[in-house]
Amino acid sequence: MPYACHMPSYKTKSVILKTYNLGEADRIVKLFARDRGPIDSVAKGARKIKSKFGGRLVLYNFIECEISKGKSLDIITQAEIIKNFKNISSDFNKFLFCQLISEIILRTNLAGAENAPVIFKLLYLFFNEIDKIKTGDIYSVEKTALFFISKFLKLTGYAPMVASCVKCGAGSGVEENSAIVFSIKFGGVLCKRCASNVSNYPDLKTLISKDKFDFIKKIFSLSFRDFSEVNINLQNLPEVLKLIGGYMRFHTGCNLDVALYVDRVLP
Ligand SMILES: [Zn+2]
Repeated sequence: MPYACHMPSYKTKSVILKTYNLGEADRIVKLFARDRGPIDSVAKGARKIKSKFGGRLVLYNFIECEISKGKSLDIITQAEIIKNFKNISSDFNKFLFCQLISEIILRTNLAGAENAPVIFKLLYLFFNEIDKIKTGDIYSVEKTALFFISKFLKLTGYAPMVASCVKCGAGSGVEENSAIVFSIKFGGVLCKRCASNVSNYPDLKTLISKDKFDFIKKIFSLSFRDFSEVNINLQNLPEVLKLIGGYMRFHTGCNLDVALYVDRVLP
């Protein structure tokens, strides 16, 4: 065999989280694989018309692929579509939040091989849910993104503490007032006494309404299906998404400003 290749290769189920062009005909493809987490790969000749599988390497497609170990980047040598989502790229808001979730996965190192299968499943649920949302329903898109981020934080061990005071552990005094004190820096809620000893900077303490607090508790405890049935005050949604985004940024090292995405949403 003249083209026998001695590079080790492997097969894997993956989702495409980011692509960009390289040189004249190649494409860089950032994947998240079910059994190993993030993979940086290159598809050689993917942009040539005669490419056998270049057209399958589209954002947010789930593919079964064959990959050869390369020197710097792994090389995709074969790809079959498992599932593609037709309604994402045509809707700005859907696309925006799919990009946000992809960036979160690519920029955190939390999604290593050990967490990969559950995160892969969560990504599938997320893209599938986003695909089904009616065009123009920003509320459902934001809600789904918020749920993804919360589940991701929980799965990787970064969920905020909401049942008792994060500083002293007191279970009472947290919900005493109509407003609850949430601390991004300390990673959860503060009781009245601890809150009074913390200075008044936004990352240190943020006042949130009982309504919003109940919503935050729900997003960290409900399953995907139950969550989609929860009705919430729409006005709370962008603010809660920004708060949880700020929390994620502070604790996970994923330097991504969720607020910028929320503010770019088209009416
Ligand atoms: Zn306390």
